[in-house]
Amino acid sequence: MTSFSLFQASPSSLVYPKSTSFNQNTKSNHNHSLFLKPCNSFDQLKLCRSSSSDDHGFSAKYVPFNADPTSTESYSLDEIIYRSSSGGLLDVQHDMEALKKFDGDYWKDLFKKRDNTTTWPYGSGVWGKKEWVLPNIGDDHIVSTFEGKSNSYWAERFGKRLLGMNDLWVKQCGISHTGSFKDLGMTVLVSQVNRMRKLNHNIIGVGCASTGDTSAALSAYCAAAGIPSFVFLPADRISLAQLVQPIANGAFVLSLDTDFDGCMQLIREITAELPIYLANSLNSLRLEGQKTAAIEILQQFDWQVPDWVIVPGGNLGNIYAFYKGFQMCQELGLVDRIPRLVCAQSANANPLYLHYKSGYTEFKPVKADSTFASAIQIGDPVSIDRAVYALKNSNGIVEEANEEELMDAMTLADLGGMFTCPHTGVALAALFKLRNKGVIGRSDRTVVVSTAHGLKFAQSKIDYHSKSIQNMSCRFANPPVQVKADFGSVMDTLKKFLSKDRQSMNSY
Ligand SMILES: *Cc1c(COP(=O)(O)O)cnc(C)c1O
Repeated sequence: MTSFSLFQASPSSLVYPKSTSFNQNTKSNHNHSLFLKPCNSFDQLKLCRSSSSDDHGFSAKYVPFNADPTSTESYSLDEIIYRSSSGGLLDVQHDMEALKKFDGDYWKDLFKKRDNTTTWPYGSGVWGKKEWVLPNIGDDHIVSTFEGKSNSYWAERFGKRLLGMNDLWVKQCGISHTGSFKDLGMTVLVSQVNRMRKLNHNIIGVGCASTGDTSAALSAYCAAAGIPSFVFLPADRISLAQLVQPIANGAFVLSLDTDFDGCMQLIREITAELPIYLANSLNSLRLEGQKTAAIEILQQFDWQVPDWVIVPGGNLGNIYAFYKGFQMCQELGLVDRIPRLVCAQSANANPLYLHYKSGYTEFKPVKADSTFASAIQIGDPVSIDRAVYALKNSNGIVEEANEEELMDAMTLADLGGMFTCPHTGVALAALFKLRNKGVIGRSDRTVVVSTAHGLKFAQSKIDYHSKSIQNMSCRFANPPVQVKADFGSVMDTLKKFLSKDRQSMNSY
């Protein structure tokens, strides 16, 4: 962080007139030209150029999730707190009245202006919506890789040929700095930790017990900010691909002789004793970043609301985050309705699906069996209440997919030019089922959220294409053909293929 201080803005820079030229790319800039729109007098201008965007009274705090309206319990975001006084979930609550002082068009305009900029921190898809995320953090405390702004891909051939759909889109959230949509939330969590450290809170580092995408994102953002990260992993139970990101990003990786739950238990106990901030999935700060993917979807469709958005769910924070993003856009007048949400679960880890089927009567955790969709292999999701709330309020539904269904769906997507992860396969398999049942109509605009990069899950594709998965026919496998390296053999093989197998080459 030493070089960082060389670029700190001098206080006087905050009132320089707009024409003063700064290097647009440094964090020092505090360039608030993007805030200038509502300011029309010099006094207001000065206000608009002060060091954070809370000039308009924007603020956010922790409150108990879905609290009784009479509850007065709340906490500053600068407090280290993971649960409410009753042990329940927390939620970041924004001062909606302050945000409502600006109309929907103002926000659309502001978000649009910040697209494709390198101005710190608005070049990020998350921080381009800073006022809705963490309004009171100073720009120079933000730790960002300019995450977000992932493309939405028109799955034209896949949609038309396999589903009879013309308006199917895949929001490519996995095309991200560390290869999963966890980056969206991690930039918020690590930025807030960075701020608290600068405010002299005693936080020596950040820890988590995930082996997959969370530890990859955590270690990358911590490394970018020079904050130590601690990753607890179960020894011998994870793949090289899962291990390599935190190791490469310099996390202190502890390999423990236990399973994931054992690691989680240990890091809880450790963080209660040592000043290590816990980046677990309870954390409501992360959801503030995750929700920006929903806002981005609306923005990408020029604020026309899709009919359906399908999200694979495990610990279930994200289905709520998407709901929250859509709901804020409605409440603040950017759109007049929200999409129906579908949460897609692996049948091997389907507690929400069972709960939905039972009409949301009593929730029962399940023991999650192993699934190729390993990031959602969770039997007792922390955010179950958040998910049920999101689904009830979006007229949402829950669907499940077994291993064969999810792997076939992933493979078919790949054969249509995508390269999806198994979690996206779960969402796509859910789409197949809902189309077959006639729940999703052929002309419904549908967005499937792709959550991780396919390259992180290359082994599952190799297993499928080499037909080495037990009890799975792998009917769309496309294994390489072994051919002797001479002209005649290659020619024979190609001729045989061109005469017979051509039909089967592309399965659709
Ligand atoms: C975390 C994650 C999910 C699920 O998000 P939850 O909030 O746990 O439901 C889905 N896919 C991938 C790739 C993930 O990393």
